[in-house]
Amino acid sequence: EEVFDILIIGGGPIGIACALECKKRNWNYLVIEKGALTNSLFNYPKNMTFFSTSEKLEINEIPFISNNPKPNRDEALEYYRRVTTSNQLNMHLFETVLDIEKSSETFHIRTNKAKYTAKKVIVSTGFYDIPKLLNVPGENLDKVSHYYKEAHNYALQNVVVVGASNSAVDAALEIWRKGGRVTMVIRGAQIGDRVKYWVRPDIVNRIEEGSIKAYFNAKIEAIKPDEVIINTENGYVNLPNDFVVALTGYLPNFELLENSGVLLSEDERSIPQYDSETMESNVEGLYLAGVVCGGKETHKWFIENSRIHAKLITKHLDELQF
Ligand code: FAD
Repeated sequence: EEVFDILIIGGGPIGIACALECKKRNWNYLVIEKGALTNSLFNYPKNMTFFSTSEKLEINEIPFISNNPKPNRDEALEYYRRVTTSNQLNMHLFETVLDIEKSSETFHIRTNKAKYTAKKVIVSTGFYDIPKLLNVPGENLDKVSHYYKEAHNYALQNVVVVGASNSAVDAALEIWRKGGRVTMVIRGAQIGDRVKYWVRPDIVNRIEEGSIKAYFNAKIEAIKPDEVIINTENGYVNLPNDFVVALTGYLPNFELLENSGVLLSEDERSIPQYDSETMESNVEGLYLAGVVCGGKETHKWFIENSRIHAKLITKHLDELQF
């Protein structure tokens, strides 16, 4: 049976960065990705623009050339795809890791397709798979979505956008510009403070002039086929409604981590336990990389500041003379 030196779970930007470091060292590695290559980015809104400039999204010092001040989704897909293909990274796509079990010195990894053995494991599974639910009646209706792709099917429709972060703001603006009637339902008192600085005036002005309606300090109470009931400072309001786009954040897959023996902090953040110098988790030989490290703090890590994890891990393995 083939024993891999390193098995990398998740083919996002950070999993790819880890694979490049392994390749440089001639290690026998494999990346297993449950969806398409850089599946999270692939599922982003079609016209999404990064908040990072392109050089901050680069991995392994491979230049990311973009014509725009901030690259868009298509350019990022092109970049990570080219990095993967030109380096001929060893990767299985559309294969999901179900569990990771450690027995003495090796890891046994089971997927929906096969079983693998590896000396070390890197978990770089990101956080874009599990939406934070509203937990209200009607959330399971077909007209409710927790992801936003493009605006066209919302044209001439009554659309409620839930949330006030970058995703929600981008969606609200785009849907309104394509002829949707948009109402934002926002839990806090204002637009999120992490909203891209060049987008903020746009949304604030659209709300002020009344083009986009917004209820602050409000939450969804129930979703019905033709209306949404919201709870506001001034009592309940019934909004006529065709679609709900709920962009209230996402959570990492804690089950995979916990079943592998990784401990999570017991506060509300559920931060997985790892050494920030080596990225090794409390399970010896199992490393964490990328945004998964933040637990529920999904804004803490992003590509810009977590691409370094790949180098920290391989530096530690070098020191162990792996
Ligand atoms: P991901 O890219 O999420 O990759 C994890 C991969 O693991 C996924 O492809 C997933 O399918 C796979 N996976 C999960 N579970 C399994 C399993 N059990 N088996 C196999 N595979 C699995 N960051 C920036 O630095 N700059 C930005 O401008 C920026 N803009 C963003 C805009 C949006 C709308 C969003 C949502 C995020 C943005 N981010 C940005 C954050 C950025 O997406 C993440 O930092 C980046 O994707 C992290 O890379 P990652 O490799 O850690 O995780």
